[in-house]
Amino acid sequence: MAQFALTSAQIEDLKQLLQDRKRLLKVTLNAELHVEDPTHASITARSDADWTTADVDADTLIANAERHSVALLDITAALEKVSDGCYGVCEACGEAIGYARLLAYPSARRCLACQRSAETRSGMKSGS
Ligand SMILES: [Zn+2]
Repeated sequence: MAQFALTSAQIEDLKQLLQDRKRLLKVTLNAELHVEDPTHASITARSDADWTTADVDADTLIANAERHSVALLDITAALEKVSDGCYGVCEACGEAIGYARLLAYPSARRCLACQRSAETRSGMKSGS
């Protein structure tokens, strides 16, 4: 059984944080998925260069929406863990993730060490 480093007050704080972020993400996603960009309305009258820009913008928008969807799923999963009583435990090694890391990344699934080795393995740099 994993050792819990979080107090119930800390879990309550993080739960609040997760719920706030979830609300915010839902609003953001809603805006992204139902965007009515005024520049797109007039884009048909523009040059090819502007079309390229519009494509990039759409890609960025989709990428953002995808990223936010994943974040929303992560947060939902984290909130489920809170109710299951297993929140704050690293999925990889079973150690406590730590309050400081969870404050920065409330939906973190892994401790910093496991996150780093996972990112090194996949060759990904999150940049955060
Ligand atoms: Zn770990």
